[in-house]
Amino acid sequence: MSPLQQVTVLGATGSIGLSTLDVIGRHPERYQIFALSGFSRLTELEALCLLYRPRFAVVPEAAAAHQLQVDLRAAGLATEVLHGPAGLCQVAAHPEVDTVMAAIVGAAGLPPTLAAVEAGKKVLLANKEALVMSGALFMQAVKRSGAVLLPIDSEHNAIFQCLPGDYARGLPQVGVRRILLTASGGPFREMPLAQLQDVTPEQACAHPNWSMGRKISVDSASMMNKGLELIEACWLFDAKPAQIEVVVHPQSVIHSLVDYVDGSVLAQLGNPDMRTPISHALAWPERIDSGVAPLDLFAVARLDFQAPDEQRFPCLRLARQAAEAGGTAPAMLNAANEVAVAAFLERRIRFPEIASIIDSVLNAEAVRAVENLDTVLAADKRARSLAQQCLGGSSRGEV
Ligand code: NDP
Ligand code: MG
Repeated sequence: MSPLQQVTVLGATGSIGLSTLDVIGRHPERYQIFALSGFSRLTELEALCLLYRPRFAVVPEAAAAHQLQVDLRAAGLATEVLHGPAGLCQVAAHPEVDTVMAAIVGAAGLPPTLAAVEAGKKVLLANKEALVMSGALFMQAVKRSGAVLLPIDSEHNAIFQCLPGDYARGLPQVGVRRILLTASGGPFREMPLAQLQDVTPEQACAHPNWSMGRKISVDSASMMNKGLELIEACWLFDAKPAQIEVVVHPQSVIHSLVDYVDGSVLAQLGNPDMRTPISHALAWPERIDSGVAPLDLFAVARLDFQAPDEQRFPCLRLARQAAEAGGTAPAMLNAANEVAVAAFLERRIRFPEIASIIDSVLNAEAVRAVENLDTVLAADKRARSLAQQCLGGSSRGEV
């Protein structure tokens, strides 16, 4: 057996994927790339294949797979190119794979992430949408297969680091009173409310502290990202929504905190660079160099905290309601949000319409109990179709 950990990076061409490859590139004695996937940035994927020489590469369609296969052969690589969701699931669950970085954005990441979980892999979870959609089924699959699930989302990675090793006994049993989930407040934290009507995708994607993909950047601007993270935290740490408090902390230096019954509050701090949680999860329970500069507290100088403003950020309230409703509500919230964010990025709707579309979708459909993956996928499909109808209704051409 190879002494190197074999790693599949799903979503290798994205922000988290590239940060993962940066960390892995620093530790060739520990990790070897087994498979890489890309979706639209296939020139970048080819360059990554030349650099990391994976056993497999995965692209969306057969024609693109053929083209990449020809190019890689011509470059002397033995990489086999697969395609589509089946290809993604194959490289996520392959018997020779030890670790899977789940960094595809959105619902498209659910099947391969679940395949990795069901195959009992060490799963580094960036793709929060997968867990939000299918929380109960996902966590049951983790228990059944013995997969090791480690959070990459910086807040959840921080919470994981601040909890005792036996937190799975239950938060009250290990003395936890509350989880304090920090949020930067995004680029529109202080903008006059009336101006939110006119913000552009470029403004929404210009996050003050983090460099991220476009979808999560818009989610951060609307604070839906924090809403999705609230749901994610409930599943990861077996918490009730009421046990989680959102704290706006504009500097993004504290990545989250855990409040214990004796009054102790533990926090994890660091520069806002995803290579820290990625390195933590890759090496866990050991520690490795991530390439992130040491935190300079004198340069940070001050840490501020505020309560979130739900009038400014209705998405946070909608997500908390979906978390409390349970069943298919989080899957519907997520699907409606994906459709609305894509429409905003295409300039088909205004920024505040993201929340109103999600609200309409959630009001249009009764919440159902989740029995199996089909229930989740049906709720996702239904919410997408309802959200598309809202787009039709609110369509105003270029905004
Ligand atoms: P990016 O948009 O930068 O990357 C997304 C990746 O997914 C790319 O590799 C993209 O391929 C691929 N992809 C997109 N659509 C599909 C699809 N339909 N099928 C298969 N692959 C697809 O996003 P991020 O890296 O920022 O985020 C990835 C995930 O990590 C998200 O779930 C996000 O919420 C989460 N996350 C990200 C953080 C960050 O700092 N970026 C922080 C915490 C969580 P291509 O680029 O080739 O089109
Ligand atoms: Mg986060």
